[in-house]
Amino acid sequence: MEKTLRNQVALVTGASSGIGRGSALALARAGAAVAVNYLSSPDDAKAVVAEIERAGGRAIALQADVSREPEVERLFAEAIARFGTVDILVANAGIQKDAPFKDLSLADWQKVIDVNLTGYFLCARAAVREFLRRGLKPEVSRAAGKIIFVSSVHEIIPWAGHVNYAASKGGISLLMKSLAQEVLEQKIRVNSVAPGAIRTEINRPAWESEKAMRGLLEFIPYGRIGEPDDVGRAVAWLASDESDYVAGTTLFIDGGMTLYPEFRHGG
Ligand code: BGC
Repeated sequence: MEKTLRNQVALVTGASSGIGRGSALALARAGAAVAVNYLSSPDDAKAVVAEIERAGGRAIALQADVSREPEVERLFAEAIARFGTVDILVANAGIQKDAPFKDLSLADWQKVIDVNLTGYFLCARAAVREFLRRGLKPEVSRAAGKIIFVSSVHEIIPWAGHVNYAASKGGISLLMKSLAQEVLEQKIRVNSVAPGAIRTEINRPAWESEKAMRGLLEFIPYGRIGEPDDVGRAVAWLASDESDYVAGTTLFIDGGMTLYPEFRHGG
C-alpha cells in the first residue's frame, strides 16, 4: 500500500476500540505515526499500539478524557513531545446515553454533549494551535494540518430516543463547516465522516442477534453492516493529500442508510 501519510503524525481519540481503532490502524498502514488516545481501557489501547508496531509502524497509547480541557492540553503535549508535532486529528471519541425524551436526565444530556461536541471543540482547538505553531511543511503535506470529525448519519437523520446524541452530531456538522471556513486560508482542512451502522460495541444490540441484524439490514440498501475498516480507509484518504481539495464536507459511509431506504419498494 502507498504510504500517503509518511512522516506524518496522527492523533486519534477513542482509539482503543471501534471506529477509532479502525482509523488508527488505517492511518498507520498509510505510514503515519499514531497517538492512540483512550479513556479507560489501557490494555485495549496497548493492543492497538502493538498491532501497529508488529506491522512496522510507530504508535503510543495516551490516556485522556477529551471532555476536560486540561487533559486535552496534556494529551497534545504528550503526543508532540513523543513525535514532534501532530499533523492529523481524528476526533472520534463518542458515547450514547439513550432514553425516552421525558426520562432523559440533565446529566445524560450534558455528558453526551460534553464528550461528543465539547470534546471535538477542545481537540480541534488544540490541533489548530499546533498546526499554526508548526506551519506549513510542503515536503510533508500540502496542508498545514487536517482535522477529521467522526460524525454520524444522525447529523441529518433525526433519532427518537436518542435526542442528546442526535443533537451532538447535528452540532458537529456546523462546528465542522464553520471551522473549515475559518481556517482554510491557513491551509488547514477540516472534514467529517458520517458512518451509518458499523459493527462496534456502541450498537452491539442492533447486530448481535440474527433477528436484530435482519431488522437493521432493512435500513441498509447495500445489504451488509459496515466494518470499522470501511470508515478507517476513508479517514486515511481524507487525511492525505489525495483529498487535498476537499474541505468542509461530510462523507457519508453508510451503505445507503441516508437514501430513504423505505422508498425502495414504493412511495
Ligand atoms: C450510532 C449507532 C447506530 C448508527 C446508525 C451511529 O451513530 O452510534 O448506534 O447504529 O448510528 O443508526
